[in-house]
Amino acid sequence: MFAFDNTYARLPARFFECVTPALAPAPRLIKVNRPLAELLGVDADELASPAGAEILAGNVVPPGADALALAYAGHQFGQFVPRLGDGRAILLGEVVGADGLRRDVQLKGAGRTPFSRGGDGRAALGPVLREYVVSEAMAALGIPTTRALAAVATGSPVAREELLPGAVLTRVAASHIRVGTFEYFAAKGDREALSTLTSYALARHYPDAAARDPGEGSDALALLARVVDAQANLVARWLGVGFVHGVMNTDNTSISGETIDYGPCAFLDAYDPRKRYSSIDHGGRYAFGNQPRIAQWNLARLGEAVLPLVHDDEDEAVRLATAELERFTSVFEAAYGRVLRAKLGLAREETGDAALAADLLERLASGRVDFTLFFRRLAVASADPSSDAAVASLFAEPGAFHAWAEAWRARLAREDVTPESRRAAMERANPAFIPRNERVEEALGAAVRHGDFGPFETLVDVLSRPYDDQPEHAHLAEPPGAAMDDYRTFCGT
Ligand code: AMP
Ligand code: MG
Repeated sequence: MFAFDNTYARLPARFFECVTPALAPAPRLIKVNRPLAELLGVDADELASPAGAEILAGNVVPPGADALALAYAGHQFGQFVPRLGDGRAILLGEVVGADGLRRDVQLKGAGRTPFSRGGDGRAALGPVLREYVVSEAMAALGIPTTRALAAVATGSPVAREELLPGAVLTRVAASHIRVGTFEYFAAKGDREALSTLTSYALARHYPDAAARDPGEGSDALALLARVVDAQANLVARWLGVGFVHGVMNTDNTSISGETIDYGPCAFLDAYDPRKRYSSIDHGGRYAFGNQPRIAQWNLARLGEAVLPLVHDDEDEAVRLATAELERFTSVFEAAYGRVLRAKLGLAREETGDAALAADLLERLASGRVDFTLFFRRLAVASADPSSDAAVASLFAEPGAFHAWAEAWRARLAREDVTPESRRAAMERANPAFIPRNERVEEALGAAVRHGDFGPFETLVDVLSRPYDDQPEHAHLAEPPGAAMDDYRTFCGT
């Protein structure tokens, strides 16, 4: 079924633990991601068959798989944990897709591993569906992310605050190597493993950088540089859609630059840089506007981990790594500038653009304006100023929009672009549909409480085309009522 070609399993034994997934008493398929199956060269009908469900639930380890749990460490809310590892995730193996890219196929929630500590190795249905909806929405928005290949119910309840239906998510990722994987070996002083991991990660994710100037030191520095670029671009994309990751620990910071771990994430409704949703993020460490700073902090942990490889002379190693880490700011600013210009309908770059955008964001924050709705309406107003009232009505004080719009229109007038093509470009940069917290909860609730997967199916379908107006689903684009102001998310354990 899967044409596995496993490379991580060939790495030294201390990189992982071999495991056997737990038995699920009554596997039942909830959803197979057919386009993704096709990309992976997997027969979607076979995957959706009862035999497929046995594999997706972990009951049958398919031919060619090497079931294993990855070893890694991580900084969680700033505190170093030397041994985390996959406590409830089991890598089956790797497949090379129709696009030539190699991806991991992993079961999340298929039972305990040697890294489970006190955990049960399981996942509840709600968080599995949440990851399915949100990760696939991110992919459709064009943001690098792990994907969801399938969700199956296990038929076995999991004990959380209450008994909940258990489920397994099949996660697909460019790899599951994280900053925390490097920290794991660095903390052990295992230089040989660090070197092996560096070469492996570089060859797997940034092969062009590996080819240039072989050698341990330049490999480590090249990898750091590429991860800085990837993470800076990723966070800029998050800010462009109002995504709050919620748990930006270094074990959730992917070396490939994909968004990973959809536990407590949420999307902004009203624009607010201080917004946090996670029930455990008391200090707001991972608040929306802190994300660039935290990404850079996480990258510094990667820099520290690979430091012994960067140069034999420690001062020189620090100098080289610091220079790469400091590049984060300019790479992020450039990426964020591109994101904001696209959102504002600006085809060219001008010096005043950042100030124009910053002025707008301040007004959105003080006016408590819905972020997604604002930009979608702005696209319409860009071609038709008579629609300004509909934009201004989103502000507590409509004059705040009109004052800014004057400067924006003056800026637009300096571009040689037809209103129609500008509006079309803006609508490709500003989604009509994001996974609205209220709608996600509604879909999860229907599935978990009533076994009704209709709202989940609809949400997945609508969010697969986030830039299309889908008038028949207009209610899924609406901002929430005030009841969602103190919406909280929980780590999906
Ligand atoms: P997360 O917050 O999902 O990134 O998880 C942090 C760590 O806790 C990872 O090593 C997970 O594998 C582990 N973990 C989370 N939930 C469970 C669970 N129910 N059973 C075992 N390990 C878990
Ligand atoms: Mg995680």
